[in-house]
Amino acid sequence: MNQQTVYEGGCACGAVRFRATGAPMRVGMCHCLTCRRVAGSAFGSYVIFDRDAVTLSGNTREWRSSEHGRRHFCPLCGSVAFMVYTDRAEIDVPIGAFDQTGLFEPTYELWCKRKEPWLPKGVRREYDEERPH
Ligand SMILES: [Zn+2]
Ligand SMILES: [Zn+2]
Repeated sequence: MNQQTVYEGGCACGAVRFRATGAPMRVGMCHCLTCRRVAGSAFGSYVIFDRDAVTLSGNTREWRSSEHGRRHFCPLCGSVAFMVYTDRAEIDVPIGAFDQTGLFEPTYELWCKRKEPWLPKGVRREYDEERPH
């Protein structure tokens, strides 16, 4: 376990960068209204790491998106940067923020009751709303 993979990425303008070390805890998609809006896209997709596995550089602004959720974004370019929680040590990093493609594939989808009808169904585990933590 002394050779750990490092994944790097950042926001669209480059002011915010991150390094994630080791395997993620899970990878998922979310169709909830907040994820749709912050990404301006049909859904959000995230790689969830232990909070300690990710180091960040650059400034972000944060807002409270739910009781325990805090969403961060780059104040310069507006990119979704990451999401953290006040009740657990996880960090959700957007798949699209990584420098490379093909690193991670989601294994589940949340908030499928908000899923766009033109998206494929039954590809991976689907939850109507949240999954239990
Ligand atoms: Zn930026
Ligand atoms: Zn969501």
